[in-house]
Amino acid sequence: MNSLKKPKAHSNLSFNNYSMEKEPSALQFGTNVFNESELRQYLNKEAFSKITEAIISGSKIDRILADQIAAAMKNWALSKGATHYTHWFQPLTGATAEKHDAFFDRADTGEPILKFDGDQLVQQEPDASSFPNGGIRNTFEARGYTAWDPSSPAFVYGSTLCIPTIFVSYTGEALDFKTPLLKSIHALDKAATSVCRYFDKNTTRVMATLGWEQEYFLIDKDRAASRPDLILTGRTLMGHESSKGQQLDDHYFGSIPTRVLGFMQELEHECWLLGIPVKTRHNEVAPSQFELAPIYEEANLAVDHNSLLMDIMNRVADKHHFMVLLHEKPFAGINGSGKHNNWSLATNTGVNLLSPGKTPMSNLQFLTFFTSTIAAVLEHEELLRAAIASAGNDHRLGANEAPPAIISVFIGQQLSKVLDDLENVSKGKLSPQEKTDLKLNVVGKIPEILLDNTDRNRTSPFAFTGNKFEFRAVGSNANCAKPMTVLNAMVAERLNQFKIETDALIEKKGMKKDDAIFNVLRDQIKGIKSILFEGDGYSGEWEKLSKKRGLSNNRTTPEALPAFVSKKSITLFESLEILNERELEARYHVDLEEYVMKLQIEARTLGDISRNHIIPTGIRYQNTLIENVKGLKEIYGKDYQKHSKEQMAIIERISQHIAAINTGVNAMIEARKKANILEDIHQKATAYCKEVFPFFHEIRYQCDKLELIVDASIWPLAKYRQLLFMQ
Ligand code: ADP
Ligand code: MG
Repeated sequence: MNSLKKPKAHSNLSFNNYSMEKEPSALQFGTNVFNESELRQYLNKEAFSKITEAIISGSKIDRILADQIAAAMKNWALSKGATHYTHWFQPLTGATAEKHDAFFDRADTGEPILKFDGDQLVQQEPDASSFPNGGIRNTFEARGYTAWDPSSPAFVYGSTLCIPTIFVSYTGEALDFKTPLLKSIHALDKAATSVCRYFDKNTTRVMATLGWEQEYFLIDKDRAASRPDLILTGRTLMGHESSKGQQLDDHYFGSIPTRVLGFMQELEHECWLLGIPVKTRHNEVAPSQFELAPIYEEANLAVDHNSLLMDIMNRVADKHHFMVLLHEKPFAGINGSGKHNNWSLATNTGVNLLSPGKTPMSNLQFLTFFTSTIAAVLEHEELLRAAIASAGNDHRLGANEAPPAIISVFIGQQLSKVLDDLENVSKGKLSPQEKTDLKLNVVGKIPEILLDNTDRNRTSPFAFTGNKFEFRAVGSNANCAKPMTVLNAMVAERLNQFKIETDALIEKKGMKKDDAIFNVLRDQIKGIKSILFEGDGYSGEWEKLSKKRGLSNNRTTPEALPAFVSKKSITLFESLEILNERELEARYHVDLEEYVMKLQIEARTLGDISRNHIIPTGIRYQNTLIENVKGLKEIYGKDYQKHSKEQMAIIERISQHIAAINTGVNAMIEARKKANILEDIHQKATAYCKEVFPFFHEIRYQCDKLELIVDASIWPLAKYRQLLFMQ
């Protein structure tokens, strides 16, 4: 019999009135979203076509149209039971932010009215001055504004109409994740569209697409409540490994525990209502670890949906008396959690630019985008690494866990062969024979080849998987906007370069278009070899080889982050008008500060638990043993030593562990004090990384050893086996 623990009494949080008796229905998909069909229904024809145009082209929405949309949105939201509205944004904390206002207002006569017009829809000033801003709001005008993003539809969540917005300072500098993401999407659209037009003049728009795969742990809330580390830091700072972990691989893809399934069903139901196209759910490798993945979407929407998902997960988990852990490494000794970002490019004509096509020409297009992406990753590998750096993700990257901190690209044997063949293309104009041969035997063969390209290297941080690239190094807790902004930007830069080089050959050398493309491709392919790697990304050999190839291996966040403000990165972001130097500096500062604060909180929590929980428990058990030895002495007299050897040894060991824990905590506090007085934030982060963090392992080691010898019935923290195996 499954020890099925029914969720404790439901909390009052009955958002969207879900009841577990109902099977969730995908047919309710998007019911709580003010999407295109709602717009069509609530707006007249002219207004509808104007807003659709504005969404696609990013053109300005005038006041009259904004008023019309606001009225429509309000009526729709009220019909859904909404009482409040909020501008919903993503500040640099990585979480989502909202400040609710009621539709309720009072007319001049004092009568209650429901009010929401274009002004409230388009722009708000939430103040929100406590969000991290990296100094932008200290020196300039302090106000922060949110502004409507019409390309991501509004939705009703609980009883609140949520309007996706950007968050910027009075001086126009970005204070959030969405602003640069939207700009990067625009830059990529422009660059990719102009390259596409070599191949198909009908292409007028290229969209970045994103399908994220969210990994997470789900554990019982009551058990988690005994652990200040989980509550305060989202991960366990100590805890001896369970005798059984993931050795047997019996959790992966196993049958989903009933109680967990209840959580998943409600989560999916909520997602569907909110238009998040979640599709796949399964058990992951580690015990109590799971994954959720949607059908991919346009990148801006996909990012919003992932941010929203993380919020919903916490709420639904709470209702089911679970705690959801989105931390990258909640438990030592078993897998951590990531969030694969599957990324591709889709045209308005319905073509996936990273999917090989049916004709040589469409494959030439595929190869152009495929190799340009790889070239971009090579050029900015250090920046891409920086985009996924965080205190949590440091436990995965560079710590013998998937994937490594060295960025490389896996493309599989067959595509490597295609690239090898293309590398040998003659310089200059191609002979008709060579061109035919290439088109027939190299470029024309790709779809066939890919069919049996089943080899998937799971150790690669950036892998081509048939029709998309899969960026696997993103942390489970991350806001996808950051890695996506970087990826979009660098690919846009590379495509712009591709266009310049190709045009130069056509215009200055009088080459035909396909000759020019073959020539640029050949040179591009020659340049990308050093980032391609098909072997084991975790191996020591790769570490050595990658160093020889000049690739970076920034294992920790303080090592990785400076790439954000390197000359090369500043040029990249400024030339594409995505972020200026000041904004980049501010972000760099915010990230370093976050790193320091996270480690500081962990260090304090570890010190507190060690002293308030672990040492007293050790002493308590030691006292029991001392009592026991005293009793044995009473019974056996002189002979007592023969009967109390084990007890004496344990008493001694407990004293040693206690002493080591205490010494470790003292030394860690001293190291922290020294780090805290450093003025320079990068130096401070480095001190936390190199001087404070190593004590975590030492202290933990001693606590875990103590856990093994102390009476389990008095151990104050839920043990790994209780957290991971009892649902
Ligand atoms: P896995 O990587 O686990 O084998 P899949 O390859 O089926 O799983 O897909 C994983 C994710 O990739 C899904 O979220 C899916 O929607 C997404 N995906 C598939 N095609 C694309 C695409 N063209 N662009 C972006 N994401 C995509
Ligand atoms: Mg995947």
